[in-house]
Amino acid sequence: MNNRILVSACLLGQPVRYDGKAKTLLNPLLQQWQEEGRLVVVCPELAGGMPVPRPPAEIGARQDGKDVLQGDARVTDTSGADVTDEFVAGARIALNVAQTQGCRFALLMEGSPSCGSQMIYDGSFSGQKHAGAGVTAALLRQNGIQVFSQDTIEDLRIALQRAG
Ligand code: SF4
Repeated sequence: MNNRILVSACLLGQPVRYDGKAKTLLNPLLQQWQEEGRLVVVCPELAGGMPVPRPPAEIGARQDGKDVLQGDARVTDTSGADVTDEFVAGARIALNVAQTQGCRFALLMEGSPSCGSQMIYDGSFSGQKHAGAGVTAALLRQNGIQVFSQDTIEDLRIALQRAG
């Protein structure tokens, strides 16, 4: 079987983001992988029970997804609600989908508190980012799944080629 790739639903055009919109990635590689039957689509936040639309959420105090999974950081939204449980539940569902579908790779939306793989917002809701991964990206990595984003899609192409 071809190596499968877990993909953020919003990158594939599904209007599931907090603002009710998609973040469609127009890239021929994505189209090629879709035609090859490699793509497995997930939105961790919806899977964790969050509605669309929903208030934007951030991981607190310059921490990241690893800290949330260890119980050392919380995820809150702009209304002040603690949505940590939903984010962790969604990450676990995404991992389960990836494992049952045989995904060794993931292509996730950069910057998201769930899907971000290199940069996330710093918890101040002021538009500032810092280095770190979201909750789902962190959990996937802890379980041996290589996580890429729209900014590193070429690296994913190379990794797939090497994997054969
Ligand atoms: Fe997109 Fe991931 Fe946010 Fe869902 S959780 S809207 S897939 S970035």
